[in-house]
Amino acid sequence: MYHKTKNRETSAYYIDGILKGDIPILSQAITLTESHLPPDQNIAGEVLEGILERTGNSIRIGITGIPGVGKSTFVESFGTHLTNLGKKIAILAVDPSSKFSGGSIMGDKTRMEQLARNPAAFIRPSPTGSNLGGVAAKTRESILLCEAAGFEIILVETVGVGQNELAVREMVDFFLLLMLARSGDELQGMKRGIMEMANLIAITKADGDNVEAANQARAQFHSALHLYSMPESDWKPKVITCSAFESKGLSEIWEAICEYENITRENDFWNIQRNRQLLQWFHSTMEWMLLENFKTSKGIPSIIKEMEKKIMNKSITPTRAAGEIVDQYNKR
Ligand code: GDP
Repeated sequence: MYHKTKNRETSAYYIDGILKGDIPILSQAITLTESHLPPDQNIAGEVLEGILERTGNSIRIGITGIPGVGKSTFVESFGTHLTNLGKKIAILAVDPSSKFSGGSIMGDKTRMEQLARNPAAFIRPSPTGSNLGGVAAKTRESILLCEAAGFEIILVETVGVGQNELAVREMVDFFLLLMLARSGDELQGMKRGIMEMANLIAITKADGDNVEAANQARAQFHSALHLYSMPESDWKPKVITCSAFESKGLSEIWEAICEYENITRENDFWNIQRNRQLLQWFHSTMEWMLLENFKTSKGIPSIIKEMEKKIMNKSITPTRAAGEIVDQYNKR
């Protein structure tokens, strides 16, 4: 929520600041886009339109994995690797579940101490809110603002716990799935959909006693990926072992991402996917907004409650109850 409503600046102020790469102003502009206040949203809309032409020039990388797989540590060490190559990187989080875990899992700067102090890196926690649609829309806007501010690589991090991965997949160019070596055994039970979304699987913690297991997992995942049909990008998903502790595998991962960019720019999949994502953004945000609008419109919450009671009493079926509410809404 943007509190400094009285001190709100003009859109030109934010646009100028962002295009000059001013980080405090970039931060303020992101806060503005996250605000629910209509005056803030108006300015945020103008800011986004003002910078739109200067967006799109980054590589957007999604990173996911189950809690404990080593995401924060990986991002810290991969991010540092990238800034050592002279890149400016932004790290954004999609984490609508954070209200349950008592704080944003990825936004916790203390877990990325080195990067948080690195002037070439910008870390932004997940916007608050439990609604994935809302959080995703704001993250997409943050990506654009960071691009306009000159960030060349955007890492969008999320916890692999359900729908989050899909939302992130729809906003990035490249999707990196982090896996633990020992989860190789659970390959059968692994959600096939997530594996199919990945452009690269990185087996984490391939150090010390774990090297052997990581190599085995690599082979297992490699053959599993071969079962999947060739994606339309012409890219063959890779499996790479890495260790954030020992900074191993990081350059291979970055090289794979660059190779992916070269291939898909050449065959135009890069643009095709970006255009498709713009339409996905439009449709999913429209659906989310309609739903929010419907659920909060006058009288509807009480009718919903009433219907819930009737459903529990078995006096109406859920389908009919839903239909009746929509009918009543339409008649207004
Ligand atoms: P997240 O929950 O996915 O963000 O995982 P964390 O980055 O917090 O890491 C979870 C645990 O794995 C921590 O105890 C880390 O110290 C450990 N860990 C992370 N990366 C590595 C690594 O490269 N090697 C080893 N051996 N342990 C790691």
